[in-house]
Amino acid sequence: MNIGEEAKPPFAVLPDPSSLFLARSRRLAALAAGHTLEPYLSFLSRLTLAQHDTHGELGPATGPDAESVRQAIAHDMPPLTRAAHVTQAGAQSTIDRLLARLGGIDMPPETAAALQALRAAPAEERVRLTSVSMDLAAPGPDIAKSVLVAAGLQVHMARLASGLDADTLKPVADGVCPACGGPPMSSAVVGWPKAHNTRFCTCALCGTMWNVVRVKCVLCSSTAGISYHTIEGGGSDSVKAETCDKCRAYLKILYQVENAVLEPMADDVATLGLDLLMIEDGWTRGGRNPFLMGY
Ligand SMILES: [Zn+2]
Ligand SMILES: [Zn+2]
Repeated sequence: MNIGEEAKPPFAVLPDPSSLFLARSRRLAALAAGHTLEPYLSFLSRLTLAQHDTHGELGPATGPDAESVRQAIAHDMPPLTRAAHVTQAGAQSTIDRLLARLGGIDMPPETAAALQALRAAPAEERVRLTSVSMDLAAPGPDIAKSVLVAAGLQVHMARLASGLDADTLKPVADGVCPACGGPPMSSAVVGWPKAHNTRFCTCALCGTMWNVVRVKCVLCSSTAGISYHTIEGGGSDSVKAETCDKCRAYLKILYQVENAVLEPMADDVATLGLDLLMIEDGWTRGGRNPFLMGY
């Protein structure tokens, strides 16, 4: 960057559901070949393609009306209050459509059993699970079902978020998506023109990206005691774990500026080895990813 040419990143970048899931699917397929997690990454490549196809077959999403969006933002709240969307007909029909599409793809036996159980379950049970899955935390015995429901929820929330006005969004709290209040999945240092070398978090639910300065804990805003960890001899330095001594958690940081193909969801899953090392060292995973649920 030239001296005097300061990067001016936008605060928020909304997801485009017509490319978000397809990009994830392609990246997962590329990562899968020869990877120790090949079967799982290949399955996720098919699942994200099903998310893409589900979006493609739906008409325009009906989000909250302009006045409630305006009021939420005026009160420092994310405009897509997640709880309000769990029971919404749009959420459930999107989840149902994804589940129907998944019927045709190759998947691990445990996931296939969960899919069958979900499709046979009464609507209230799916609503209950949607509510549980929203947090993307370790959901106990329902884990396989929660992953599938969360995948449907991602499609729904990305569609709603894409209808917002990015320029009106503002920070709501540390580690919280300004559009839906969801948790970050990972963060990335981007190479975009005008935002070169700036960092964005990606929401685990709706895919909105929000700007957070570098060398600062995304989860608690501490700027002291920040360190970076990679797998020693792991070959690539383009994905690191950013740790914070204050909250003892870490969030991954992807250097897209060095390697433009890195994708916040796909590369998060593919670097599970880094999580295992960090967790063994006593750090808590601060990012949430439906496809790493339980870590
Ligand atoms: Zn979000
Ligand atoms: Zn922290």
